[in-house]
Amino acid sequence: MNNPFQNAMSQLQRANKVKQFSPEFLSRLHQPNRQINIAIPITMDDGTLHIFEGYRVQYNNARGPYKGGIRFHQDTDINEVKALAFWMALKCAVANIPMGGGKGGITVNPKLLSKGELERLSRGWIKLMAPVIGPHTDVPAPDVNTTPEIMSWMVDEYTKITNDTTNAVITGKPIEIGGSEGRGIATGLGGVYSFNVIKEKLALPASCTIAVQGFGNVGGHAAEILAEQGHKIVALSDSKGAIYSEGGLDIKMVNEYKKANGHIEGFPNSRTITNAELLEIQCDVLIPAALENQITQDNANNIKAKLIVELANGPTTPEADDILLARGIPLVPDILANAGGVTVSTFEWEQNIKGEHWAEVDVLGKLKKIMEEETNLVYERSKELNTDMRRSAFIIALERIEQATK
Ligand code: NAD
Repeated sequence: MNNPFQNAMSQLQRANKVKQFSPEFLSRLHQPNRQINIAIPITMDDGTLHIFEGYRVQYNNARGPYKGGIRFHQDTDINEVKALAFWMALKCAVANIPMGGGKGGITVNPKLLSKGELERLSRGWIKLMAPVIGPHTDVPAPDVNTTPEIMSWMVDEYTKITNDTTNAVITGKPIEIGGSEGRGIATGLGGVYSFNVIKEKLALPASCTIAVQGFGNVGGHAAEILAEQGHKIVALSDSKGAIYSEGGLDIKMVNEYKKANGHIEGFPNSRTITNAELLEIQCDVLIPAALENQITQDNANNIKAKLIVELANGPTTPEADDILLARGIPLVPDILANAGGVTVSTFEWEQNIKGEHWAEVDVLGKLKKIMEEETNLVYERSKELNTDMRRSAFIIALERIEQATK
């Protein structure tokens, strides 16, 4: 299977077949402006020294400071971070927020570290990255396995090094140190706003059956909000396994169960299924909200959902996109569906710069407006160009980045 960056470049080429961009502009987008590899030395609790590999990719800043999360994962590598940074540049353009695209990461399984080791590692990443990030240059945020607490260690370290007290260098912080109201639920909720627009266009039932892969920040909040809106979450998964219930899962109870047991498998009145089965389950809507390369040419023909909403980044390979397009299964692409996170992160950044704190109702109102407007635009453009929503979202983003570049 191709690595995520190869997939991202292949998506770019596919969009360019629908609407051609200049070769000069495209060649700019085939590589990041800057990529940084660091070696982070950490003294472990047992006194040994361990060197962790870390990254920051600053892909494109034509529309504003680089913006994008930091991922802590054992499989994270430079190709994944490069792909995620590229998608961030496009995502910020689709959401029409004044940011460019960046991404960071560390190759580590954070679940194997003590809290002290995790804090030293998070601060270590900032110590080495401080010269190249900043409120007006590059603004990191959380991603897989990174939390508001980790963001608070990072912003504290940055403040010690630079004396910048705006806290605007990092978003996704706890509210007490300049975090935004609504940031925690923003990605999941933004995805639901986008889904609601497409649900109307496709005339899906008022109450849909939904399968969600990934029960973290994004998938967990999306599942909870969708269930509150009257939909039935029939399947859910985390990294350890998946569960199914034809009658629908009580998301709040699954949450409690996960907190108590560390996994969702074994949840009362549910059947254990595999993650592969979850993707192919009979349902109206499939929501991948975990990692890349989940919907591929091996399973795209078996997907039974009527709509896919990508809350994860890069869950569908380009080959699978072609199969889904041919089968007439619409897909709301990641750079649109999960743009709610970076949108509220940008609101957080703006509040920090201006020294303001906005009410949740204002934050979510602005988020709703952006998600609905841009989803409508992406959908209408896909009809006009007779293509899928990934290609139309790419084209809208590329036009906006090209305009800014010029
Ligand atoms: P998270 O760490 O909070 O949760 C990830 C979830 O995925 C966990 O429940 C984990 O158990 C599960 N998971 C991991 N591997 C899996 C597998 N093979 N099968 C099934 N489940 C698996 O991370 P998150 O912040 O929720 O991010 C999830 C996705 O959403 C990522 O692709 C991320 O880049 C994307 N995203 C996140 C944000 C954000 O605001 N956090 C914004 C935009 C996009």
